[in-house]
Amino acid sequence: MASLFSKKIEDLKGIGAKRAEQFHNLGIYSVGQLLRYYPRNYEDWSTPTPISEAPFGENVCIKAFIGSPFSVNFAKGSKKLICKTMAYDSTGAVTLLYFNNRYISQMIKTDKEYFFYGKITNTLNGLQMIAPTFQETEKGASIHPIYHLTAGLANRFVADAVRQSIELLPSKINDPLPLWVRDKYNLQSLDFAIRKIHFPADHDELFMARRRLVFEELLILNLGIKFLKKNKKEENGIILEKNYMNDFLSCLPYNLTNAQKRAIDDCINDMLNKNSPMNRLVQGDVGSGKTAVACAVCHTVIKNGYQCAFMAPTEILAQQHYESISKILEGTGINVGLLTGSMTPKNKKTVREQLARGEIQLIIGTHALLTKDTCFKNLALAVTDEQHRFGVSQRSELLLKGHHPHILVMSATPIPRTLGLIIYGDLDISIIDELPPGRQEIDTLLIDSSKRNRALGFIRKNVDEGRQCYIVCPLVEEGENTPEGVISAEDYAQMLMMNDIFRDVPIGVLHGKMKSADKEKVMTAFKDRELMVLVSTTVIEVGVDVPNANIIMIENAERFGLSQLHQLRGRVGRGSEKSYCILVSDSDYPDTKKRLETMKRTSNGFEIADEDLKLRGPGDFFGEKQHGLPEMKIADLSKMEDVAETQCCAEEILSESPLLDGEEYKGIRGEIKQLFSRVNGDSLN
Ligand code: ADP
Ligand code: MG
Repeated sequence: MASLFSKKIEDLKGIGAKRAEQFHNLGIYSVGQLLRYYPRNYEDWSTPTPISEAPFGENVCIKAFIGSPFSVNFAKGSKKLICKTMAYDSTGAVTLLYFNNRYISQMIKTDKEYFFYGKITNTLNGLQMIAPTFQETEKGASIHPIYHLTAGLANRFVADAVRQSIELLPSKINDPLPLWVRDKYNLQSLDFAIRKIHFPADHDELFMARRRLVFEELLILNLGIKFLKKNKKEENGIILEKNYMNDFLSCLPYNLTNAQKRAIDDCINDMLNKNSPMNRLVQGDVGSGKTAVACAVCHTVIKNGYQCAFMAPTEILAQQHYESISKILEGTGINVGLLTGSMTPKNKKTVREQLARGEIQLIIGTHALLTKDTCFKNLALAVTDEQHRFGVSQRSELLLKGHHPHILVMSATPIPRTLGLIIYGDLDISIIDELPPGRQEIDTLLIDSSKRNRALGFIRKNVDEGRQCYIVCPLVEEGENTPEGVISAEDYAQMLMMNDIFRDVPIGVLHGKMKSADKEKVMTAFKDRELMVLVSTTVIEVGVDVPNANIIMIENAERFGLSQLHQLRGRVGRGSEKSYCILVSDSDYPDTKKRLETMKRTSNGFEIADEDLKLRGPGDFFGEKQHGLPEMKIADLSKMEDVAETQCCAEEILSESPLLDGEEYKGIRGEIKQLFSRVNGDSLN
């Protein structure tokens, strides 16, 4: 089939330059790509409905005779051509209408039987079907493919082009899946799958074709990701000599929870005992105290004479970790440094020099840590916080900075299990399933804007009692047409300042477009309680920690993903005060309501994340396509069983041929390259 990827779409009959352009709009340039352009849906013509039983207004297929020739007339006073005839079966009759189609009377012939597919409506003149699609019954009943289309390109053109392409398939096509895999997992050949995914004769064929293609796609994804990660486990790690955890405990103003202790033990044991580098994910819901865990682990590594790097996804977070970790480690003799993109070149240079000389033992930073000119003296541990923000490839870049350093990945729970299985497939996992003592359940309220003033009054009351509040607005681009009813953080803050209730309350604004230094100033003022209300975009979403804040009000809550709302909600409930999350939304879409109700129902990050994935699909899951996963054509990443099954298979294949260099895996290697070239050009060689 490989040759068809170099055969241009223009080589098909009936496709000229203009039509080809339309196919290009769909990302289809070659015949091979067209064959891999799977239908988004199907029309079922295989089980026609008797006319008398057809439900009105829904798509149905009927099997009917044409009783009389078409009558062809112009509509009164217009140039609209109306072609009309009658179709009947043993149960009833329906009028067929086609507009402005001069050829229809030659295409549909009297006394012949056809399948017609479309909606039946009940009118004053009896049952009626407007412009149904049709096919002679002699050609057999079948299931018709429906494709994603683009302007000017009708479904039947795509279907037609696919039909031609299928005829070009060589009699024997190379199947990327080796025979043993197909046998073991009961999968059809690629040849079968490609033909039948477009034109299945019945539901069984469609099911089998689909199963094979889903399996293939997920298998390739799993193998590709395992390949990206493959270097890690083969190497020897740096082995630590001593556990300094007990010394560390005296640095903290509180006692660690048992779950935190377990996670720290897991990590340190990995580095004391194992030959291969640690490769561990610490997962804990928002507020479970992951920072202290990372800090404890770094402490022991550094006391053993090595350096650590701690990478955060945003400048604010890096800054915050820098401050809180410096404080915890005060008096331990550990030198903590900060490296972020917004620092002056001179400061960056100084920090990098200190790092290279080993004078800084713990460096905290953003992506700036990944650039070529950052060098370490002896990096032994790389920690990444809020991991789901980083792409798979960025994660491996930190690895190159040391001699196979240990890896500690920290993440709040909103990674659905299925995605986690793929992204973190080969990591050991520690789960922090306990919150620090004294935390209270956060009350989540869902209101519409008519109750906003009452909510603001409630906020004012809390401010008077000394507590602080976040108000979150959706991100709106400056200068873009603001969607109706959506207000930017800046405008919102202006509005509050003019509001009588808030006249004497110090209000701050925080959004992504601000300079880093300004953002820091605002955050610091909020932490120091100089600002009591912070109006913000989602820049505060990840990890920001101000325990005195006990209310978060989220405007236009319908515009946020569930996992995002969960993260935002995690900004409160960090102190001992009763905390509230107020979701404001005027949306009355049932789906949206259902989504927001989930937030009221549960505070379990896993549950929320799974729900989110189901509702929004993985592409949207992290807000942006930052998870680094390629887009799936047919597989559904929220289907746990499919993912798990292919994960098993990927392991079997790799244990058989760790480098996939056997002849029978040539096809798979090619597919992996192709899939990942669509993401970020990662080299898999
Ligand atoms: P997350 O897991 O979301 O990153 P943080 O590390 O930011 O959570 O911790 C949340 C808050 O809980 C911080 O204010 C931190 O100081 C506090 N904290 C962490 N561990 C404990 C503990 N064992 N007892 C009391 N407070 C703790
Ligand atoms: Mg955190």
